[in-house]
Amino acid sequence: MTLVVKFGGTSVGSAAAMRETADLILQSQADWGQVVVVASGMGSKPVKVTDLLLQGAHTAAAGDTETYLMVAEQLRQIHFEAIDGLLEPEGERQQVLAENGRFIDRFTALCQAVNVLGELSPRALDAISGMGEQMSIRILAAYLRQIGHPAEAIDATELVVTDGHFQNASPLFEQTEAKTGARIRPLLAQGVIPIVTGFIGATASGATTTLGRGGSDFSAAIFGQVLAADEVWIWTDVDGVMSADPRLVSGARSIPTLSYREVSELAFYGARVLHPKTMRPCVENGIPLRIKNTFNPSHPGTVIVPDSAAENGGVKAVTAIKNLSLITVEGKGMLGVPGIAARTFGAVARSQVSVLLITQASSEQSICFAAPSDATNAVIRSLEETFEEELKAQDIDSIWALPDVSIVTVVGAGMRGTPGIAGRVFTALGQHGVNIIAIAQGSSECSISLVVAGEETGTAVSHIHSLITA
Ligand code: ASP
Repeated sequence: MTLVVKFGGTSVGSAAAMRETADLILQSQADWGQVVVVASGMGSKPVKVTDLLLQGAHTAAAGDTETYLMVAEQLRQIHFEAIDGLLEPEGERQQVLAENGRFIDRFTALCQAVNVLGELSPRALDAISGMGEQMSIRILAAYLRQIGHPAEAIDATELVVTDGHFQNASPLFEQTEAKTGARIRPLLAQGVIPIVTGFIGATASGATTTLGRGGSDFSAAIFGQVLAADEVWIWTDVDGVMSADPRLVSGARSIPTLSYREVSELAFYGARVLHPKTMRPCVENGIPLRIKNTFNPSHPGTVIVPDSAAENGGVKAVTAIKNLSLITVEGKGMLGVPGIAARTFGAVARSQVSVLLITQASSEQSICFAAPSDATNAVIRSLEETFEEELKAQDIDSIWALPDVSIVTVVGAGMRGTPGIAGRVFTALGQHGVNIIAIAQGSSECSISLVVAGEETGTAVSHIHSLITA
């Protein structure tokens, strides 16, 4: 059996964290037989190595000749401290110090070049920002070897072939499968644990690319697919996906099973879960993806599965997105006129704003949608330009925004075909005096979204949540 496990920045953020991570890796190997490790760059709050690398690069490009040198010092300190804390002087310590040192020297040289040129290309940014992973895996692999377990650090530039979309590259699966299989399978067969960089890949011609911020989760899912793994585990610092934001609801709990569609709704509506793109390689290949807590390893966490096996029991979670406004375009002259909606959303798109929820009354006399508060003025301006004629002719009476609202979303694929859920939600809110300003439910019936006043967000979320856990 093959398990792909991904460890984020905190799990490799210090010597102590790496020791615990090594224990989890060995436990996985004992349980599953073959384990492939994907790791992020070191990152204990508040300092994340990737952020430092980016800061160095950006300041260098802006003409600052000092910050990147200070960053290099900080990088040296963070990595060398971990190496000294983990590796014995008579073992590989010197070698790993030298390897990490070379990356830091390369970082400094690249920043210097960027500084001289006064220009930072996406390609240079990827070469720089992926170094955190390249350093951390070398430390972790050496530590595993020191405690007697064969392990090899591998840069994903050797495995993941991507397009040339620097900063947000997409994998080319066929080539990635061929390269990864050829490099990783022989190691697994010999009992060697591959410790692979998350986040990075390379174009066919060998230029380093990155898969977007937070891309290590995606890396794990890619390896899950190309190695036909039995499961992919993402280790984080929470017990999986929670039924509500614990800061809003004290009774929030971890959800044992979620379907891909449910997680996608949750991600869209503000929950801190995996990005849907991240999960696709697993979901499309029927590979369960599990989110586990490093601080509570025996907790089963949340497993994300492709199909309806998870659709038991109706509502699964409640989320909220705050700081929105509800923008309305209304007028009696809109009735039955084709193209108003298209022009409305065309105008919104031109202001580069993503719409989070849309409703239209059947009288066709108004369309309203939610957009982030800070984009409200730009959207209204764009709508006023688009509908200048209609406003003059009073076919459209007004375009206006209701500020400071939130979208509260109830998610659960089991709501499909289960009557009465919307009724229970509305009753709960009515009983607690929460006014519902607008409602939307997609035909997938996987979520119901309600717009409420910003100040009522907490009340709405907690009353809906108590209803679903009852
Ligand atoms: N280190 C990268 C980042 O901070 C990728 C990751 O950690 O997932 O974005």
